[in-house]
Amino acid sequence: MRFQTKNVHFPQKIETSEVSKTKPIYQTSAFTFSDFDEMEGYFEGEKSYMYTRMGNPNTDDLGKGVADLEGAEMGVASASGLSAILAGVLAVAKSGDHIIATEDLYGGTYQLFARELADFGISVTFVDCSSREEIEDAIRENTVLLYTESITNPLLRVEDLEGIIKIAASHGLKTMVDNTFATPYLIRPHEVGADIVAHSATKYIGGHSDVTAGVVTGSRELMMKAKAKVSILGSNLGPFDGWLACRGLKTLSLRMERQCANAEKLVDSLSGNALIKKVFYPTGVSREGNGAIVTIDLAEGIDVFEFSKRMQWIKVVPTLAGVETSITYPVGTSHRPVPKKTREKLGVTDSMIRISVGIEDAEDIIDVFKKALS
Ligand SMILES: *Cc1c(COP(=O)(O)O)cnc(C)c1O
Repeated sequence: MRFQTKNVHFPQKIETSEVSKTKPIYQTSAFTFSDFDEMEGYFEGEKSYMYTRMGNPNTDDLGKGVADLEGAEMGVASASGLSAILAGVLAVAKSGDHIIATEDLYGGTYQLFARELADFGISVTFVDCSSREEIEDAIRENTVLLYTESITNPLLRVEDLEGIIKIAASHGLKTMVDNTFATPYLIRPHEVGADIVAHSATKYIGGHSDVTAGVVTGSRELMMKAKAKVSILGSNLGPFDGWLACRGLKTLSLRMERQCANAEKLVDSLSGNALIKKVFYPTGVSREGNGAIVTIDLAEGIDVFEFSKRMQWIKVVPTLAGVETSITYPVGTSHRPVPKKTREKLGVTDSMIRISVGIEDAEDIIDVFKKALS
C-alpha cells in the first residue's frame, strides 16, 4: 500500500472474540459483507443489518428495551418523540382516514395533528376524552384511530385509559397512547389494551437531557409498518443517540423511584401555602408513585417572572424529566401557540409554573421553593 491508501485503511480490527461489557456503538452508516452472496443474505433474513437508516443495533436496542418494559412485542426508535408519534399514526392511518385525538395534547403533537396530518390527507377531530359522548359523536365511517395521553401537560390529569380504550375498541378503532409523562414504571397502557404506545425518549427514558429520541411500541405487525415509515421518511435515530438513550434507560426505575418520592415531599411542603392558589399533582396513578411533575398556580399578585429569578440552582428549562430539578412556564412555552380561549377552557393560566422534580435531596429542593415564596 502506498501512503494515501495506508492512510485510509489503517487497521481497525472489529473484535468478534472479545466481549465488551457495554454494548459497542455501531457508529456506521452501513454494514459490510464478504461478498455479494452474503449481501443477498440480508434480503433472505440471514443478516440483520445493511444500512443504518433501515436499522442499527444501537437504535434497535432502544426500541426493544422500551418494548420489554411496556410489555409489547416490538418497539421502534426514531429521531424524536414527534417522529415516533408520526410513524405510529402512519402505521394505522393513511390518506382519507380520520383520527380522534384528545384536545389536551402536548403542543408539538397538536401542531403535527392540526396542520401536518391534513397535508397527508388525514383529518383529525379533537375531543374531551373524559366524555364518552364527545368521543362517540366524533366517530365517522373512516375513523381508524383514537389518540390520547396517559398523563396530560401541564395539569397532570390522569386519563381513564381502560374506559377510553373500551369505547374505541367497541367501535373497531385502534388506540394510541403517549406515555411520556408516566413511563412504563407507572403506567403500561398495553396492559389495558392500547395498540400503540409512544414516548418522547428525550424525557424520562433518556433521563439526562442529553439526547432527542422517540420510541413507539406495539404488535410486530404494527411496528413493522412503523419501522418502514421511520426508514423511508428518514427519521431514524443516530447510533450514538440510541446508545445514550439506552444508557439512560438502565436507571429509569431508580430515577423514577427517587423523583416520585421527591415530588410527593415537595407537594406536601407546598400544599396549604397561602401564596399558592393550587398545587396540581395526581393521586392513585400507580402503586409505585404518582409521577415527578408538579404544577403550581401562584396566588394573585405574585409576579411569576420575578419568582423565576429566585430559583437559585434550579434551572429554567423548557423541557422535563432530567435528573436535575427544573421549572418552566407553560403559557410562555408549550402553550404559547394555544389561543387564550382554549387555554382557559383547558385551565392553563398565566400564573402557572411547571416543576420537573429531579433526583437531588428533597430537602434542598423544598428549601429553594420555601425561600422563593418567603
Ligand atoms: C416532549 C414531548 C413530545 C415530543 O417529543 P420530542 O422528543 O420533543 O419530539 C411528545 N409528547 C410529550 C408528552 C412530550 O412531553
